[in-house]
Amino acid sequence: MRQAEALRGVVAVDGPAGTGKSTVARRLAASLGARYLDTGAMYRAAALGVLRAGVDPAASTAVAEAVARCHIEVGTDPDVSCVLLDGEDVSREIRGPAVTRAVSPVSAVSQVRELLVAQQRRIISEATSAGGGIVVEGRDIGTVVVPDAPLKVFLTATATQRAARRAAQDGVDDVAEVRRAVERRDRFDANRATSPMCAAADAVELDTTALDVDAVVGTLHELAVARGLIVLAAGSRT
Ligand code: C5P
Repeated sequence: MRQAEALRGVVAVDGPAGTGKSTVARRLAASLGARYLDTGAMYRAAALGVLRAGVDPAASTAVAEAVARCHIEVGTDPDVSCVLLDGEDVSREIRGPAVTRAVSPVSAVSQVRELLVAQQRRIISEATSAGGGIVVEGRDIGTVVVPDAPLKVFLTATATQRAARRAAQDGVDDVAEVRRAVERRDRFDANRATSPMCAAADAVELDTTALDVDAVVGTLHELAVARGLIVLAAGSRT
């Protein structure tokens, strides 16, 4: 029998849309019995709260007020997607086109980021308090949320590849339009004043263009082993 492995500490996975962050981060967490945090889902829930409040996503003061009134909860089980907005499961709705259009301007508002980063840090500290591990994905995990994470990975891929993956995932035929939308969102996320998306100076950059999910998960696993973040799970036997 193979000995079960467990993750200790935080693995930060950042990068633009369509690089495979969610699939890879979820898979790595599940294989190591670790928790998983999708911070993009939290910003998406905030954007949905803004839309439901009838607020223009570009009106930053009103956006900050609307988000402060939202109650956002996110699960950390890598096998179950659970995002609640004011007690309602919105896991599917936050993936729709209206939220995807609104999320970048909403997440560029500094008060929104302050609220959500504080919540993210609470979740991470709870997951790691008793020696546990968590894989956290987003845009600013290695730079802002957990700057002392022992392993930071920044995934990239060509825009063509990222658009093709997103289109296949969402069942959309117009790959050119998906590419324009993905590039627009990345430009916005990389150029905002507060916590712009970028690789931390000590992040390992991995181009996933020609790699499948297993290869990327395998590379992250090797990096985690090399950093001493993987231990044998308590009670596991050979
Ligand atoms: O990862 P996902 O594509 O669901 O993220 C949606 C959006 O949320 C991003 O385009 C970005 O605007 C925002 N985001 C962020 N910081 C994070 C995670 C996501 O600003 N840590």
